Amino acid sequence: MLVRGNVVVEGVAIGNIQFLDMDYEKHLKSYTAEDIEAEKKKYNQALQLAQKDLEEMLESEENLSESEKEIMGAHQMLLEDVAFIEAITTYIEQGKPATEAVLLAVADFKTMFDAIDDPYLRERQNDMVDVGNRLLRKLLGIPEFSIEGDHVILCAKDIEPSIMAGLSEKKVKGILLENGSKTSHTVIIAKAKGFVTMVGVEVTSQMAAQGSSVIVDADKGEILLQPSEEQMTEYKERVEKQETERTYLMERAKLPACTKDGREVLVAANISSPEDMEKACSFGCEGVGLYRTEFFFMESSKLPSEEEQFEAYKAVAEQAKGALCVIRTLDIGGDKHCDCLKLEKEDNPFLGFRAIRICLQSKDMFKTQLRAILRAGVYGKVGIMIPMVTMLSEITETKKLIEEAKEELKARNVPYGENVPVGIMVETPASVMMAPVFAKYVDFFSIGTNDLVQYTLAVDRGNQTVNYLYDYFNPAVIQSIYQIVTAAHEAGIWVGMCGEMAGDRMALPFLLSLGIDELSMSVSQAPAVKEQIRSLESDKCNLEEILKFSETEEVRAYLKELVK
Ligand code: PEP
Ligand code: MG
Repeated sequence: MLVRGNVVVEGVAIGNIQFLDMDYEKHLKSYTAEDIEAEKKKYNQALQLAQKDLEEMLESEENLSESEKEIMGAHQMLLEDVAFIEAITTYIEQGKPATEAVLLAVADFKTMFDAIDDPYLRERQNDMVDVGNRLLRKLLGIPEFSIEGDHVILCAKDIEPSIMAGLSEKKVKGILLENGSKTSHTVIIAKAKGFVTMVGVEVTSQMAAQGSSVIVDADKGEILLQPSEEQMTEYKERVEKQETERTYLMERAKLPACTKDGREVLVAANISSPEDMEKACSFGCEGVGLYRTEFFFMESSKLPSEEEQFEAYKAVAEQAKGALCVIRTLDIGGDKHCDCLKLEKEDNPFLGFRAIRICLQSKDMFKTQLRAILRAGVYGKVGIMIPMVTMLSEITETKKLIEEAKEELKARNVPYGENVPVGIMVETPASVMMAPVFAKYVDFFSIGTNDLVQYTLAVDRGNQTVNYLYDYFNPAVIQSIYQIVTAAHEAGIWVGMCGEMAGDRMALPFLLSLGIDELSMSVSQAPAVKEQIRSLESDKCNLEEILKFSETEEVRAYLKELVK
């Protein structure tokens, strides 16, 4: 049986399903409450046990990453928080059983956090629930969760961050969650641990028994329940190969991406939140070539404030340690929806109200984001990138708004980066044709092949029926890329690529021969791409020859020979 899900950590994993089902309800029903003093005593014991657990975890778990330690530390602080402890004691003194007192205090604090207009703090409600559950487990005598076996695919509605942090990479291979978002702590930790992970997945015990075999293909977003022997053999080979390759590539991830003849290419990261930076650095990415800021807007029911955005952009800039971070302004619309912007439903959303078009009609919102980016420029090297440009006026208007944003910050006495470079995504046929002109107005180009392919070939990037036509090796796209790079270099600006093509090893000979200055990609691809660059000469692709091809297959066949 095949089930689909949303990939949050790529890769392939094989293992046995273990359902994580903390049935507190059942235990709560059988809990016997005693008098106030006895309940207080039980609560104090539970508190001490919970504190001891966290202490031991922090002391003994060498494999805890910085973010995991931070979360565990936050939980420790909550368990020492006088207001929280007193809230529980007060409920017990009012005659509530210790278990109910914990639940009531957690609910009070959750409501309090909910009222605070800060997504980070709202997300911390989960920490409160997590800490409450830890106390409940101690009160109810539920043993701490333990993993059975050493090839486990953990399946749950949700997993508390502290449980995720305690999972051993040696035992757990994959995570399937019904809930979860990119900013939830649980997913942050799963990512840090490198568990192959999918969210939005519903696997029930009716579909697969506890302990039964499962294959998680988080390269394709597929889960194979009760796989056949053939599938097992095929995937076992894939996993083995994946492991050997990963180890080798990770050992070499931080070496520069330098071709055999000594040309260094900048390999940067595509990220969608500050949490992605830890992995980006450890996977050898040098800075950020594309920060998709829209995810921040999509996860929130309200427009993120200047302060909230500033904190996120600043965190990215700081972690890049002097390398450039290209922050793309809001690219909402198309297939990306956002509750906080009440946008009309459109028949042709990719050709409709999207990206810079929306921003230029919501100037206050746009300037809020521009101010936040400019402010982050004090803490590192940041760049502003405009998506979906089709007209020069979109560039000049944005630049005018950037100047206004600077003036506003000056008037408020708020420091900002004076020389933040401004670039555009070149991802529409109009911007390809106008590239020589646009290049005179911006500091850099970044080629967005994901959209460039769909707009050049008139193929909806999300439509499976016409998917066979969607190909960045189509000669029309190859010609476009050539024109863009040439225009940029003639105008003396740098040009990168941040569409999926940048992470495709087969595209490298062409891109290197063009003299592309930067390649930005999904973080997990960076070690392999860097390794491929190290094995290539910078001028192996004959541009005259590749530009003569009129069929996609000719381009493919030619490049395939070069990456052998
Ligand atoms: C692109 O279009 O290539 C790109 C990188 O942007 P997105 O995928 O976010 O549209
Ligand atoms: Mg795009």
